[in-house]
Amino acid sequence: MRRTLWLFAIALLTFAALLIGRALLLVPAPTSETVLVLDVANDPVQAHERAMRLAGAIRIPTISHQDPTLFDPAAFEQMHAYLEQTFPLTHAQLEREKVAQYSLLYRWPGRDPAKLPYLLLAHLDVVPVIPGTEPNWQYPPFSGEIADGYIWGRGTLDDKFGVTGILDAVEGLLAAGFQPDRDVYLAFGHDEELGGNAGAAVIASLLKTRGIELAYVMDEGGAITDGMLPGLDRKVALIGIAEKGFLSLELTTKAAGGHSSMPPPSTAIGVLSRAVTRLEASPFPLDTTQLESTFAGYLAPHMGFQMKILAANLWLFAPLLASSNQLNAMLRTTTAVTMFNAGIKENVLPIEASAVVNHRIIPGETLASVTARAIEIIDDENVSVAQLPLTARDPSPVSDVDSTSFAQLARTVRQFHDKVIVAPYLVVGGTDAKHFTGLSRNVYRFNPILAEPDMMSRFHGTNERLSVDGYASLVSFYAQLIRNSDQI
Ligand SMILES: [Zn+2]
Repeated sequence: MRRTLWLFAIALLTFAALLIGRALLLVPAPTSETVLVLDVANDPVQAHERAMRLAGAIRIPTISHQDPTLFDPAAFEQMHAYLEQTFPLTHAQLEREKVAQYSLLYRWPGRDPAKLPYLLLAHLDVVPVIPGTEPNWQYPPFSGEIADGYIWGRGTLDDKFGVTGILDAVEGLLAAGFQPDRDVYLAFGHDEELGGNAGAAVIASLLKTRGIELAYVMDEGGAITDGMLPGLDRKVALIGIAEKGFLSLELTTKAAGGHSSMPPPSTAIGVLSRAVTRLEASPFPLDTTQLESTFAGYLAPHMGFQMKILAANLWLFAPLLASSNQLNAMLRTTTAVTMFNAGIKENVLPIEASAVVNHRIIPGETLASVTARAIEIIDDENVSVAQLPLTARDPSPVSDVDSTSFAQLARTVRQFHDKVIVAPYLVVGGTDAKHFTGLSRNVYRFNPILAEPDMMSRFHGTNERLSVDGYASLVSFYAQLIRNSDQI
């Protein structure tokens, strides 16, 4: 009897151990998720070498000036030569062509020509440094100094990291003998900061005439935040899936002029001021569609109860959120009076006054609808309203977040950042990606950079810089993305 009990007890224990053992097996199996290509996270020497290659590009002042006569072709030619010399394998094994003389397009032939290629996009040009602010830079803006753990200079955040980062990844993959499954295009425009019409737009139409369709396009855009969004103590990777449209309206008033000692009740300036005041007093209606998809669809499940209530009821809370200029920009078409020109002398009545009102258009509105609304609100036949056509652009289409390419992009982000939430969002500024929306349904805008709290003020600003470790990791990110793109 005793022996039977013992046997029973042993059997029971074995069974229990089996149950616990099986439960313990229910942990995520080690998968390829942890295998990163070209990872240099624990290799400061290689990280520094990567940083040096970016720093070299920072030293070449490929500036986009508003005044076209200041364009310096030599700087762009020097940049082409620098890239050629810095990434020799890439330039030996990829086809490269100069488009519109200063932009670059590369094709990396894949194993299977039947599959749709994809395109990684960045730009060669940078914005100027505001004259007089040079002394405020900790290190001169075109020094490419590597100090205090950062690479310093104009272009480190916008967007030379993309150019050298992508090329460094390709160079590393080539050295490792990697060949992509499908064709990979790399495109680097030379006038993104002026709208991209002379560079990226020409590349896009060139690809179009060749009948090329793209599986996806990835350009600069959102970044990874950590604890910066209220109510979220996790990292969030914001991937731009659409960008706002752009429309500058020129308002003009003409008048008879004459001596200011015998004025009419309102001068051309007065008439125009009223028009501008009316526009500012009538902001566009709030549209929560885009913010809702980011908040309710992706972020809210990870937020506290209060934020969940807010996210689930944006229709109610949107006016409150719109008091923040950043959120307001994601919630409506914005109106900004940016220029006002009138008058030549204190005692001369102006014969003309003009103003420029810049609108950033939310998906759902169009150039035509925004213009019509402005005319209606101004409601004054003495004020003519004209679109400035060169930069006018409807909002981009909204890209697909259910595509395999979005899934692989999100997967790549997760491979680098534990517990990160990947969320789509609306980009309120402009990128070269807008020129490619006719070539692919999947156009994404993302910088694989962990944002630092004061980073936003450095974009186009003073003391632009990128951490050496952050840059080394983003090169690995691009390499991993290229490898993962074999599975789209
Ligand atoms: Zn940029």
